[in-house]
Order: sequence, then C-alpha cells, then structure tokens
Amino acid sequence: MSNLKEECAVFGIYSGQKQNVASTVYYGLFALQHRGQESCGIVVNDDGLFNAYKDNGLVNDVFTRPVLDKLGSGNMAIGHDRYSTTGNGDRNNAQPIVVNHHKGRMAIAHNGNIVNAFELRQDLELQGSIFHSTTDTEVIAYMITKERISSKSIEEAVSRAMNKIDGAYSLLVMSPQKMIACRDPYGFRPLCYGRRDDGAYIVASETCALDAVGAQYIRDVDPGEIVIFSKNGVRSIREHCGTKSHKICIFEYLYFARPDSVIEGRSVHEARRKAGALLAMQFPVDADIVIGVPDSGLDAAIGYAEQSGIPYGMGFIKNKYIGRTFIAPGQKNREDKVRIKLNVIRQTVNGKRLVLVDDSIVRGTTITRIIQLLRSAGAKEVHVMSSAPMFTDPCYYGVDVDTKENLIACQCDCDMDKVAKKVGADSVGYLDVNNLHMIIGNKPGEGFCSACFGTGYPTKVPTGQKNRFEEKINKGGSDTDEENYEMFLRVE
Ligand code: SF4
Repeated sequence: MSNLKEECAVFGIYSGQKQNVASTVYYGLFALQHRGQESCGIVVNDDGLFNAYKDNGLVNDVFTRPVLDKLGSGNMAIGHDRYSTTGNGDRNNAQPIVVNHHKGRMAIAHNGNIVNAFELRQDLELQGSIFHSTTDTEVIAYMITKERISSKSIEEAVSRAMNKIDGAYSLLVMSPQKMIACRDPYGFRPLCYGRRDDGAYIVASETCALDAVGAQYIRDVDPGEIVIFSKNGVRSIREHCGTKSHKICIFEYLYFARPDSVIEGRSVHEARRKAGALLAMQFPVDADIVIGVPDSGLDAAIGYAEQSGIPYGMGFIKNKYIGRTFIAPGQKNREDKVRIKLNVIRQTVNGKRLVLVDDSIVRGTTITRIIQLLRSAGAKEVHVMSSAPMFTDPCYYGVDVDTKENLIACQCDCDMDKVAKKVGADSVGYLDVNNLHMIIGNKPGEGFCSACFGTGYPTKVPTGQKNRFEEKINKGGSDTDEENYEMFLRVE
C-alpha cells in the first residue's frame, strides 16, 4: 500500500463500423482505474465529428448513463484515466485533449512524462502559442499539430514530433480517419493492442483492459513504434524503433500494473511472486506467518511464503470502497485513516511472529501505522519486507516519487536498521537492486529503468522545472492534497 501516486492510462477502440464505442471505452477505463483516479475522459469520433466529455472523478462517477448516451455512437473513440504528474489536478488538465488545427482535428491521450516539456513549451510560448492547461500532453499536441502543417499525414507528423520530444510517452492520437498508438523509443510505459470478435481493434495501457472488453491480445506496441489503425487495416512505422535502449519501468511490475496484466510477455503476478521469493532468499526470518499489505503486497507475500516454507495468512481486510473522493469529516488523524482503510484480522496475528510484505516503503508513515495496528492486535514480532528496493531518487517519467528529503531511505542513510527503528519494526528488508532483473528474467541492468532506486537516469534530467509536488502545493494545494498524497489516491 505504497503512498506513491500513479500515472495514467490510455484506452482506444477502432471499429470498421458505427457502434457504441463510448461504452467500450467506459469499460476499458474502468479496468484501468488503478492507474489514475483524478479525472477521466472519452472522445468519440463519429465520421469526423468529435464528441468529448471529461471531468474530475472516477470513471463510474463521471460517465453516468445520460453522459454515455449523449456521447453517442461512432466508428472509433479514445479515453484516458488521469493522475497528474505534470500540471495540477484542474479539470482543465483532464484528457483526452481535443485540438482543431490547420488541417483538421485531433484528440490525444498520454501516459508518461516528457523530460523536455519545459523547454519546448517556453519555445512555443515565445512563438506566440497559448496554452490552456499546464500539462506536458498539450505540449506534445502542439508539437504534432505544428509538424502536421508540413506533413502529408497525421502519422508522419507524429513521427516528426517524436524527433523533438524526449522522455516517457505512450500515446493515443485520433484524427478524423485514423487512430494511432505510439510508444517512446525507451518504452517506459506499457501499451498493447488486441482485437475483438466483431473485428474492432482495441489499444490499452494494460492487457487487463483488453480482457475486460472481450478482446484477444495481439501484441505490445514496441518501443519507438507507431501503429496506425484505419480503413486500410493496421500499419506500423518503425523508424524510431531501436534508437534508444529499452527501459520499461520496473515499477510497473512491482506496483503500478494490475497483477492480472501481462506486460511484454511477462505476468505481473509472477514478477511479484518472484520478488517475494527473492526477498525470502535475501532475508530469511524465523517467523510463524507471512502476511501481505493489500492489495499490491499480496502477490509478493505469497512468493515469500512459498520460498521460505512459512505459512501464508490473511492479515488484513481492506475497505474497498475508499476512493479518491473519500473525506474524513472533522478529523486529521492519519492513524484513524489507516484504520478505516485496513482492519487487522486479530486471529491471524495475535501472539505471532510476522513477516509483513509490502510493495514498497516510500515515506514510511503508512507502514509505521500498519505496524502499530499489528502490535495492538497482539503481534509479537513484525519483520517488514519491501518488494521494491530503496527509493533514493525522483522519477521524471510519470511517477510522483517524493522529494529526497521525504524519502525514508534517504533520511536513514540507506541503513535498514535505522529504517526498522524509525518505523517500529523488528527488522526491515528491501529487494536488492542488483536482483531486480531476475523478476522479469532480464540480464542485470538491461531492458528496464530503475533510476528511482539510484541506478542512473536513461535520459537527460529536466532542468528549469520545479519539483512537481512542490509545484502542486504552491499552486493552491491544500491540507487535503497532503493527506491524499499519503493515503487515499489509490483505488485497487
Ligand atoms: Fe519507473 Fe522508477 Fe524509472 Fe520512474 S524512475 S520510470 S518509477 S523505475
């Protein structure tokens, strides 16, 4: 139950014929809700006429039946779930963004974060461009529409814009005639597509959304690839493929993605189980039972239990109805909020020596409360295992890792005994950063990004850009923002 904020999700459908595409996108976005709960949006393309609706809130709150009915039918549609990493949580920043340009109309949805947005935006503003939001997605939209003026097609404009934007982007672009899926040459964020029995093509951030709408997975969009869906079928542009080394975010496997998703051929559930098994090898503990923090710590807890031979038990019941909009009336106490979200099963933990597995330890505040709850339920010992290595550096690719001074690993000089003391655990273990490759079967350090664990950045680090969290607080963030930062943004 990490207090990291998630990124975003994209979902799109290209159907050869007019149908209720808005409903399909609704179900796809619902399946991807874990990637962003701040706002969501759908744009339906009915023979070149765009109908759009977006708002702050969860998918099933924003898209009521009357709203979906109003969006109507079309031959394609794209949608987006958002958690803000660049730009604040204003309704204006919700996606997809629709722009009218010299040669027509375009809608765009983006997962990721580009590292040169600040410089590109400054250049564009100096040339007279006016921005309606504070997102890097609008910068990408500008770059594509600018290139469109001198390009023969929208896909050529996307390809030319890719020469200028740097960082993480899994994009869906919709023109009057085409839907285009594209992934940055590093492949930081996942993107895949499949097909339904009725012939409609589906593109999604994760395979769990293909399953949700009855589509068969075909393949992942390759890093640097542009895939075009149109009346002429499916076509691929690969001129950017292989121009950078592959850097899928390893934290997608450990935390962000749903465990029933498969990314680049690897099961997320299996990756987490392996992380748990590796932890058991790194940190054998004499204990009575292994429990996981719901939901994203459970798979690794099973892996730890299997490897160690210590029985697996259910330590908590999670209140599944707490969402983005949860308000604790008249109370500021973080401990009470943890208690509302998680209840300990006393019968499992009373008098026991516990191994407690979580997906990560970021600030350490939530795990501290959880340990307190376990001890007051009678736990004799609590040994905490984190299936992610120590966070030591910020992420510039779409994940809100906290500032260094708030990261518990940095506060404790990366000393596990100090972390254990600070959170009130008997011991603490982190997955070794040198073992990370084993969870996805890669060679050490190859094919994935682990920069926030101190292994170095694959791109230029952005300059002239304020820390995103500081920016958010300065731009009118409230106590509620701070508290949400801690606890309530994740709906699993
Ligand atoms: Fe993922 Fe960390 Fe790399 Fe960001 S820095 S893309 S969270 S591994």
